[in-house]
Amino acid sequence: MTDFAATRTQFHLPEGVIYLDGNSLGPLPRAAVARVARTMQDEWGEMLITGWNKAGWMDKPMAVGNRIARLIGAEPGSVAMGDTLSIKVYQALASALEINAPRKVILSDSGNFPSDLYMAQGLCRTLGDGYSLKIVAPEEVMEAIDETVAVTMITQVDYRTGRKHDMAAITTRAQKKGALTIWDLAHSAGAFAVELAKAGADFACGCTYKYLNSGPGGPAFIYVAPRHQDRARPALSGWQGHDAPFAFDLDYRPATGAERMRVGTPPILQLAALEASLDIWDTVDMAALRARSLALTDQFIAGVEAACPTLTLATPRDHAMRGSQVSFRHPEGYAIMQALIARGVIGDFRAPDIIRFGFTPLYTTHDEVAKAIEILAEIMAKSLWDRPEFKTRKKVT
Ligand SMILES: *Cc1c(COP(=O)(O)O)cnc(C)c1O
Repeated sequence: MTDFAATRTQFHLPEGVIYLDGNSLGPLPRAAVARVARTMQDEWGEMLITGWNKAGWMDKPMAVGNRIARLIGAEPGSVAMGDTLSIKVYQALASALEINAPRKVILSDSGNFPSDLYMAQGLCRTLGDGYSLKIVAPEEVMEAIDETVAVTMITQVDYRTGRKHDMAAITTRAQKKGALTIWDLAHSAGAFAVELAKAGADFACGCTYKYLNSGPGGPAFIYVAPRHQDRARPALSGWQGHDAPFAFDLDYRPATGAERMRVGTPPILQLAALEASLDIWDTVDMAALRARSLALTDQFIAGVEAACPTLTLATPRDHAMRGSQVSFRHPEGYAIMQALIARGVIGDFRAPDIIRFGFTPLYTTHDEVAKAIEILAEIMAKSLWDRPEFKTRKKVT
């Protein structure tokens, strides 16, 4: 069992705020402040460059990857940290396409986050020679996996609707048709237990600043299944993924295992913040997390549907098809979200008409959900969103 009252006390949650956006940027783990300060003062400050050896900085990308591995059902040594998720998507795609030549089709769905699609489009342009990205509706992915598909690039949980794909079923189908799978876990890692090895996934990647609370710009992770590790050839072949970075060879020779997916110098300060968050995650039972996540999202769906008839649920009711977020549609969604934020309920808006709320069992309580429903109900009943200052779009929505 996990004591969620105890995990909540380990986060800094500003007074007067109900934070329902930890699916976009997790809050600050209290211990991260001292942890980062210690890394700066005791390691960077005192050790200077010797920190790479003395403080173990050089080993951090794989050591931290091993702690993420438990949360995503990955084998030890198969997860490397670094760069951003967009970069990791590109790396996984490039390696998978090379392994599965001569097939040339990347299959994705219209619920995928645009950056993943953009990275695929950029890679296809670079490769030329008939490579293409095929985008189908989320419900059509299974059917679309055929003998022409080289690799599926699917984000397990749709960032807008919170719809969750069946990883095991899609992976099994892909294997039957000879396609490789890349899973983007941006809205899965830390949202529920992911079982990459059990499903037989080939590649996966994700970010750590959402449910894993590493802070803005925190490093991404990439998973390479053990069977591919020694044949996956990094397209971004940087020196930190070289077999012997300090041999300074003129030719690239990949490191053994998933470590070859490292590119350049790792972000040590941001990894320190992530380690403070992972200290909390180490105490979390993933089955208890999922049970609480579903209870919180059920409560929100039922309460909002009862109190706000003009909002349309965009998230599946079926537990098996739901991540850890709830979204509603409304033509004035942007203004509604701004009105909520003005009242201290922080969620976000995704064009064209989605208001989105993340439910993060480590610190979200049932009392907060009840209060958020109450505030949203008042905003809708009295049209409190209908004011010019709530309709001016900001840079980040
Ligand atoms: C959040 C998110 C990203 C963001 O990528 P960055 O490179 O970290 O900015 C990419 N893909 C998906 C599916 C996401 O949800």
